[in-house]
Amino acid sequence: MYSLGELMKKRTLSFFFLLALLLAGCDSAMPDRAASDASVWAMDTQMDLRLYGDTDGTVMADLIAILNELDHKLSATSADSVLTALNESGRSDDEEIEFLAEQALKLWSQTDGALDITLLPVSRAWGFSTGSYRVVPAAELEALRAQVGMDKLEVSDSTAPSRAELLLSDGAMLDFGALAKGWAAERCKARMEQAKLSGILSLGGNIQTVGTKPDGSDWVVGVQDPDDPGRYVLTLRLTGSKAAVASGDYQRYFMQDGVRYCHILDPKTLSPVQGSLRSVTVVTDSGLRADGLSTALYVLGREAGTELWRKLGDFEAIWIEADGSVWITPGLQDRVAEGAYQVIEA
Ligand code: AMP
Ligand code: MG
Repeated sequence: MYSLGELMKKRTLSFFFLLALLLAGCDSAMPDRAASDASVWAMDTQMDLRLYGDTDGTVMADLIAILNELDHKLSATSADSVLTALNESGRSDDEEIEFLAEQALKLWSQTDGALDITLLPVSRAWGFSTGSYRVVPAAELEALRAQVGMDKLEVSDSTAPSRAELLLSDGAMLDFGALAKGWAAERCKARMEQAKLSGILSLGGNIQTVGTKPDGSDWVVGVQDPDDPGRYVLTLRLTGSKAAVASGDYQRYFMQDGVRYCHILDPKTLSPVQGSLRSVTVVTDSGLRADGLSTALYVLGREAGTELWRKLGDFEAIWIEADGSVWITPGLQDRVAEGAYQVIEA
C-alpha cells in the first residue's frame, strides 16, 4: 500500500527518468560509451540508474548490490536491518553507521539542531513509518521528548586505536532517512569513478551526476513543482559530478482537517514542519551533505536557511514558497536552463 504522496512520488520519478532518457538519448550512438539503464526499488522508493560505457553490466550490478546492501543496513522499518539491531540493543560497532552518525552530529551542530536523527519514535507516533497516520496529542509528544535528542548519541573517537563504538542512551533510536539516499549516491559515485564511468542516478529524488556525458554536454536536472511534481519549476544545467537533493512537503504527507502534515519534523516542536516553504533543493559536491542540508533547510525555513547559506557558504540552494515564488543562491544564476526565479542577496 502506498500513500497518495508515495504514489505521486513514484509517478514523478518515472517521469523524471523518461525526461533524462530523452535528454541523453543521442549518446547511445557511441557504442563504447552506450547508455545502460536500470531501475531498482530500495529504501522505500524507486531508483533509476543510467551509466555510460558499462559494456558488460558489471558496474551496474555493483551499484544495485550497494543499494540493496545499504537498504538492508539502514532500514528503520525492517525487523532484521543492522539499524534495527542497533535501535534495540543501544549499541553498534558497524563502522559505516558510526561514520554516518558522526556526520549527522556535525550537521546537527552546523544547522542549529534542525537535522536530528533521533526523531524515530516521534515519526512513528505520527505514523510516517507505519502508514497509520494521526495527529499526535501534545502530551504524548512531551512524553516522547525523554527519548529524543542528539545528546543521547555517543560515538567514540574513531581515531583511537580501539574499535569505534556507537552508544545510545535513554531508549533513543536512530533514523538515517534524511541522509541514507545521499550516502547511497556517494557510494555509487565512488564505484563509478573507480571504473571511470559517467552517468546519472536518481535515487528517490536525490540526483547524483557523475563525470561528464560522452557528448560533453551538461547534465540537465529538474526541480519539481510541489503542486504538480510531474512538472518542473526550474531546470538546471550541472557540470561534472554534483548532487542535487530536494526536501519538501509534497513528498510524503497526510491531510487532516485541511492541514498538511509532512514527513519532515521540527525537532523543537516534534511536529511536522508548518510554514510557507514547499521545498528546498541543495546542490553541492557531496551527496550526503546535500541530503542532510536539504532536510535541515526545510526545517529552518527560507529566512534562517538563507542565513545558514551565508554562514556555511559551501552549497547552492533553491527555495520554493507556497505563493509560487522561487529563490535561488547567486551561484546558480548561470546554471538555470529554464524557469523564473529571484536571486537572494549574498
Ligand atoms: P529527506 O527526505 O531527506 O528530507 O528526509 C526526511 C526523512 O528524514 C523523514 O522521512 C524521516 O525519516 C527523517 N526526518 C524527519 N525529520 C527529520 C529531521 N528534522 N532531522 C533528521 N531526520 C528527519
Ligand atoms: Mg535529506
